[in-house]
Amino acid sequence: MIKIEKLKKIYQGVAVLDGIDLTIDRGEIVCIIGPSGTGKSTLLRCINFLERAEQGIIKIGEQGVDSGNMATRKQDILALRRQTGFVFQNYALFAHLNARDNIAEGLRTVKGWAKYKARERAQQILDDIGLGDKGDHYPASLSGGQQQRVGIGRAMALEAELLLFDEPTSALDPEWVGEVLALMKKLATRHQTMLVVTHEMQFARDVADRVVFMNDGHIIAQGTPNWLFNQCDDPRLHKFLNQVG
Ligand code: ATP
Ligand code: MG
Repeated sequence: MIKIEKLKKIYQGVAVLDGIDLTIDRGEIVCIIGPSGTGKSTLLRCINFLERAEQGIIKIGEQGVDSGNMATRKQDILALRRQTGFVFQNYALFAHLNARDNIAEGLRTVKGWAKYKARERAQQILDDIGLGDKGDHYPASLSGGQQQRVGIGRAMALEAELLLFDEPTSALDPEWVGEVLALMKKLATRHQTMLVVTHEMQFARDVADRVVFMNDGHIIAQGTPNWLFNQCDDPRLHKFLNQVG
């Protein structure tokens, strides 16, 4: 189980996350929606310590870290980070590594695997994500959708407890969105725990076990897609849904 308690992040005197409490069960798919500048990316970044929150506790499985406690040991933060995989909006692949080595890299650096073993596993993942014949391709010679699937494959390789996705399709040409969403759906059927910031309302409706609506650093409402999209009567949610169509 993943538990976030009283998470607070301040930028230039403004609380961008203002006391976020969120619990995610193992295997649950949680989508986060909300207006721009609301703190969605910041929340994901604070969960895996790409940013450090001023306050709050983050617990993944047995591993818990108190963000506000500056005496927290570095190895505890690293252990927590290893429980997460991050999929970025802009893929963030290594341009100088081919697809196979982009996936193998984390297995080498994070898990300390030998090169041949990491590459062997990376090839299995390429097969799994439908890119078995693209291992030798560098990111520049892959389509946006293929690059993002490699980005997801890289996160899959570490077999993290929790996968974090920050708008994984929003940088893609429309023609590539479907294949990336399909891969995420495949992961969902395997009960991979996922926290997904998305503007794809249809994906949230179809795949999420729970949808969380954030506004101005707060969680305003959360529930099943059916409840949130059809029954919740919060005016801020309605305004947002009307804007995104
Ligand atoms: P979007 O939907 O546009 O991606 P978001 O909900 O992900 O928005 P965040 O990126 O988390 O929003 O930003 C929340 C707020 O924090 C914004 O007002 C943003 O300007 C501010 N912010 C984010 N990162 C920083 C930073 N490194 N320094 C200062 N302010 C920041
Ligand atoms: Mg964002």
